[in-house]
Amino acid sequence: MVLEARDRVGGRVLNHDLGNGEVVELGGEWIGPAQLRVNKLVAELGLETFPTYNEGENILDLHGKVKRYTGEIPPLPKAALVDLAQSQLRFDRLAKRIPLEAPWAADRAERWDEETFATWIRRNTRTASARFFWEVFAEAVFATEPADMSLLFALAYTHSGGGVNSLIGVRDGAQQDRIVGGTQLIARRLADALAEPVRLNAPVRRIAQGPDGVTVDADEVVVRARRTIVSVPPVLAGRIAYDPALPTRRDQLLQNMPAGSVIKINVIYDEPFWRADGLTGQVAGDRTPIKFTFDNSPPVGRPGVIVCFLEGAQARVFGRLDEAERRQAVLSSLAGYLGPRAADPAAYVEQDWSAEEWTRGCYGAHMPPGAMTQFGPVLREPVGRIHWAGTETAGVWSGYMDGALTSGERAAAEVLAAG
Ligand SMILES: Cc1cc2nc3c(=O)[nH]c(=O)nc-3n(C[C@H](O)[C@H](O)[C@H](O)COP(=O)(O)OP(=O)(O)OC[C@H]3O[C@@H](n4cnc5c(N)ncnc54)[C@H](O)[C@@H]3O)c2cc1C
Repeated sequence: MVLEARDRVGGRVLNHDLGNGEVVELGGEWIGPAQLRVNKLVAELGLETFPTYNEGENILDLHGKVKRYTGEIPPLPKAALVDLAQSQLRFDRLAKRIPLEAPWAADRAERWDEETFATWIRRNTRTASARFFWEVFAEAVFATEPADMSLLFALAYTHSGGGVNSLIGVRDGAQQDRIVGGTQLIARRLADALAEPVRLNAPVRRIAQGPDGVTVDADEVVVRARRTIVSVPPVLAGRIAYDPALPTRRDQLLQNMPAGSVIKINVIYDEPFWRADGLTGQVAGDRTPIKFTFDNSPPVGRPGVIVCFLEGAQARVFGRLDEAERRQAVLSSLAGYLGPRAADPAAYVEQDWSAEEWTRGCYGAHMPPGAMTQFGPVLREPVGRIHWAGTETAGVWSGYMDGALTSGERAAAEVLAAG
């Protein structure tokens, strides 16, 4: 029996209907070629993929200078490029030293868990441009600020996703492909295939366990079973009542896995006007609050869609404004990058994941200093008859749909083995 709090399946993955059968995603969206599990599932479910639009030139708009460029290397002054390349090499090298399934067992785990990602950035860069890159990296990948997480956590997550370029890249990276019909189709098709339908509108409030089994209380429905898998974001797992209470270390783990903050915004135009201008629609820059964009148009190329994000501190600040003020700030940022046409869209659609009762922040959880080494070892450890899944428990592509899938299979295998 699958109990789902919302009135829909998909969780952090959600389609939005654009009309004429076209959709955009308000949550999880892209899959990359190194995400083997999700690619296999997409094929099994008979879904088709199409490449993220990536033809033309990107824009870098930094410190008042606008440059168009192709390829992966941003047109920065030589000193900044060297600084960036050296710091990235150093970071990727450290990341590779973290054991994927047990970051707390890394050779210098305690040392790296004492410091924040922010202090590492400060010590390892000399130029404002390199620091800006790392700040945007943290916000884009973790939806939080470098000061919010430990260096060990940032390294572990980066290794889990195959390195910095793999995480931020389009071609060969995590943003390479999209799903025709929208990514939520993965969850919908999986749910349709279940013999016992997902029980919607069933928020689990309490889990009691005894020697013979568990009792799971979800408002209208009470389920008795031999075992249960809790597969919700850590912050929400900590809000379920457990009887008996969770062991101290498990509870403190949940207290130390806060979610990031993100508002995902799709801005819809009659046509993707930037394409005619020879642009990919990919922008990076410091015209805050928007720091980067992608072309998110459906495969037919109409309407034109620019997707952008308010992440970390920007999501917290702009999330407090009313929608009209936020929209104004976002559109003026986009117009700065893409010209005045960007300020006059046909529609504007946003989703604030921190405000969602059954998510409370995205893209996933992160860990502040000290958390990984002190509480990480119980991340996947069952508590009696309760097993733990969800993308945050994955060793590979943790934080992504791919990690969510493998975490579910790992937890299911535990249950089958336990009998
Ligand atoms: C804006 C955004 C962009 C993203 N982009 C990407 C991307 O491009 N590629 C990628 O791979 N990933 C991306 N992600 C991350 C990806 O969506 C998640 O990693 C993945 O969906 C997590 O799956 P999950 O099953 O672990 O958790 P969830 O999707 O959060 O599923 C948990 C489910 O449990 C339900 N629930 C919560 N509490 C209870 C309760 N008490 N009782 C019953 N049910 C409950 C929730 O409603 C939800 O359906 C993005 C996420 C966001 C928000």
